Amino acid sequence: MSAADGRALRAAVEARLPLAESLFDEIRAASAAEAGVTRPAWSAEDHFASERLADAAGALGLEAAYDHAGNLYCTLSGRDRSAPAVLTGSHTDSVPTGGHYDGLAGAVAGLIVLAAFRDIGWQPECDVTAIATRAEESVWFGIPFIGARLALGSLSHDHLDSLTRSDTGRTLAEHMADLGLDAGALRREDAPRLSPANACAFLELHIEQGPVLVAAGAQVAVPTVIRGNVRWPGASCHGRYDHSGATPRDHRQDTVLAVAELVQGLEAFWIAQEESGEPDTVFTVGKFFTDGAHHAMTKVPGRCDFTLNFGGTSQAFLDACRAEVETRVDEIATRRRVAFDLGECVGAPPAPLDTALRAVLEEAAEAIEIPTQSFATVGHDAAVFQRAGIPAAMVLVRNAHGSHNPDEAMTLEDFGAGAAVLAAAIARLAA
Ligand SMILES: [Zn+2]
Repeated sequence: MSAADGRALRAAVEARLPLAESLFDEIRAASAAEAGVTRPAWSAEDHFASERLADAAGALGLEAAYDHAGNLYCTLSGRDRSAPAVLTGSHTDSVPTGGHYDGLAGAVAGLIVLAAFRDIGWQPECDVTAIATRAEESVWFGIPFIGARLALGSLSHDHLDSLTRSDTGRTLAEHMADLGLDAGALRREDAPRLSPANACAFLELHIEQGPVLVAAGAQVAVPTVIRGNVRWPGASCHGRYDHSGATPRDHRQDTVLAVAELVQGLEAFWIAQEESGEPDTVFTVGKFFTDGAHHAMTKVPGRCDFTLNFGGTSQAFLDACRAEVETRVDEIATRRRVAFDLGECVGAPPAPLDTALRAVLEEAAEAIEIPTQSFATVGHDAAVFQRAGIPAAMVLVRNAHGSHNPDEAMTLEDFGAGAAVLAAAIARLAA
C-alpha cells in the first residue's frame, strides 16, 4: 500500500467514526447499569450488542453469520474465498457495572475497518472477518475466553453442562438455548472450527487497561506479550477462635496475622524479583477476609480466606512464585500453629504475540504516521488464537482510569487512531 493509499485508508476510517459512535451509544443504552454497563455473557444485553453489529454489517453489504456458540462473523469477501482469512475482533460481554469499551471497542473497530475498505472500493485477496466473541470475561462462568475457545475447539464440551452463570446459576447450554443457539451442534466432531487451515491471522484491538499510554502521551501500543499467571483463587488459613483479651500470644492461632505475614513476605519477594531485573511482573491479593458469621472485634480470628494472583512474562518467574508460596506457607504454618489450605492452583503460561504480525502493525502505523509504544499486556482472546496456532497480535488504545470499572474513558479520536492502524495492517496482510 502506497503512502497516498495509506492516508486515504486512514481518512476512510476516520469518516466512519460517526457510525462507531452511534453503535457505542445504542449498545450502551441497552446495557446501562446503575453504574457503567452490565453485559453478562449470553444475556439479552450481550446479544443486543451482537445483533446491532450484525444489522450494521448487513446495512454495509457485508456477510453476517453466527457460529453455534453465538460468536458473530462479519465478512468482507476476498477474491479467493478459499484462502485462509484475516480475522479481527474482540468480545461484547462486560464485567458487572463495568466499562463500556473493554471488548466492545475491538468488536466495533473490526466493523469500521471493513466499512472503510468498502468505502475506498478495496477488495482483499482473502476474506477479512470481524468477529464479536462471547464470554471473554471469567466473571460469568468462572473461566475466560469461552466463546473464542468454543470457536477454536479448545474447550471441552463437558463445560456446556457443568459451567453455571454466576448471577443465574443456570448452565452455559441453557443460556445458549435462550438465544436460540444449538449447543448440541458444538458437541459434534464435524462442527466447523477456526483453525490455521481457514485463518491466517487474528488482530485484536482493545483498550489499554493500565495507565501506560496516558502517562506516555501516546494513542496506540502494539503489545509484545500477554502475561501468564499463577493463581490460588480459593485459599484459606485455619487456626482457632479465642477470646481476644484472655489469650496470650504464645497460645494464639491467629489466621489474619498469618496471612498478613504471608502477603507481606510475598510482596518483598516480588519487589526483590523486580529489582533483580524480572520485567513486567504483578502481584495482587484481591480477596482477604474473615468469616462474617463468626468474626468479631473481640475474637482471635480462627479462619481467614484469601486469593493470590501473580502475573509475569516469563515462565521461570511464575515457577519461582509457586515455589515461594509453598515454602513460606510451610514455614509460617509451623511457627504460628495454623494450617493453610491453598486450594486449587491455576494458571496460564505467558503468550508471546506473533513477532511478524507485530512488525506488520508497527510498520503500518509508521506509514500512516501514528507513533506506537510497546509493552506487555494482560489476558485477551488473542492469546487463545495464538495458542491454537493462528498467529495473533494486538493494538491497544489509550484509555484513562483503567478498566473493569464505569470510569474507563477512551476518546473517539484515539479509537480512530487504533482502528486506522488495524486497517492499515489488515490491508497489508490481505493484499
Ligand atoms: Zn476485554
